[in-house]
Amino acid sequence: MELLYHMPTKIYFGTECVGKNSGEFSRWGKQALIVTGRRSAQASGALGDIQKALSQQGVGWTVFDQVEENPTLATAEAGGLLARQAKADMVIGIGGGSPLDAAKAVAVLAVNDISAGGLFDGNFAVRPLPVLAVPITAGTGSEVTPYSVLVDTERQSKRSFGHPDIFPKAAFLDARYTNSLPWQVTINTALDALSHSLEGYVSMKASILSDSLALESMRCFGKTIPSLTSRSLDLQDREQLLYTSMLGGMVIAQTGTTMVHSLGYPLTIFRDIPHGRANGVLLAEYLRFIQPVIPEKVESVLSALGLQTIDECKTLFRELLGGPEILTAKEIEEFTLIAIQTPNIANTARKPSLDDLRQIFRDSVSVSPV
Ligand code: NAP
Ligand code: FE
Repeated sequence: MELLYHMPTKIYFGTECVGKNSGEFSRWGKQALIVTGRRSAQASGALGDIQKALSQQGVGWTVFDQVEENPTLATAEAGGLLARQAKADMVIGIGGGSPLDAAKAVAVLAVNDISAGGLFDGNFAVRPLPVLAVPITAGTGSEVTPYSVLVDTERQSKRSFGHPDIFPKAAFLDARYTNSLPWQVTINTALDALSHSLEGYVSMKASILSDSLALESMRCFGKTIPSLTSRSLDLQDREQLLYTSMLGGMVIAQTGTTMVHSLGYPLTIFRDIPHGRANGVLLAEYLRFIQPVIPEKVESVLSALGLQTIDECKTLFRELLGGPEILTAKEIEEFTLIAIQTPNIANTARKPSLDDLRQIFRDSVSVSPV
């Protein structure tokens, strides 16, 4: 048996974990750049808690609150510049995946004289500033991954870079911060979390260890299905979802994502479909596609979720996501050609042809003639 497992992030999980562990912040620096979206950090209560904790520890801070959904290279550069001006020696990301991923890129750009496009080469002369992460969606699991996904507007594509030095040093997971999420974002992000554990479980890079995390993650998601369908989440459900998401991140940190993320990226870039929703739309047909080569694993996915069949799975996701996405035949053609070029495809258990990808799109959405 061979195994490689690297997950260096210290995890604090639980109500008031920021306030109870404020000493962690002063371990990493004296001046923080706090990287957030425009409203969510404040609305969730996380920003206030962090500022209080930093004050207690005598750590100064500057806030960069310009991170948009699906952050661009330009945003990462602006954050890197502000970090230099503020003489920041650590970066605290508060947000959904967008601010957390931006925080990782900012941590590199703050100390390396490279353009944001250079991030994808992965050769940083100087070790990035330490990153601390506070997830407020459940979610991307970015608080425990070495990845940052950025939009390259010139290439019109989503590109990710991964480096062991951008694993957050510590993550603070307090499910109360997800109370302020709009319902649709709760659903979209929950399906992203599920997508990570599910894709990781069936990935070519899956291991016995990542499988145990993935199964636990899918079981946790399964427990929340009744609350998700009745649209009533209590704190316990929210903790289950945050835990699902964290475990999903720990899984993809080892296995990477697969075809679902490849197909989902063009839906986000060209049709503005939120990341998690894009994955959720495609998941059931993905399971159907890989079933012939790994039937026992697909069976385990369904059983972890407490479901009997792929059709039941599809109905559930449709119910959670609401109305089908509508794509034109031309869009399907274009998105297929983009998706086949992404590296995540190689992690898929069954090698897809262009025809397979087209078919998965067709079976997952409604196709309009024009
Ligand atoms: P997001 O893009 O960070 O946020 C989506 C929306 O939800 C934003 O409008 C945000 O507001 C709002 N929001 C977030 N948390 C909130 C809260 N607690 N209360 C109220 N509103 C809140 O969403 P996400 O799905 O978490 O992140 C998606 C990004 O992560 C994508 O770019 C995706 O590619 C990336 N991703 C990264 C990894 C990884 O391993 N690094 C894995 C999967 C996905 P604000 O604009 O005010 O923040
Ligand atoms: Fe994702």
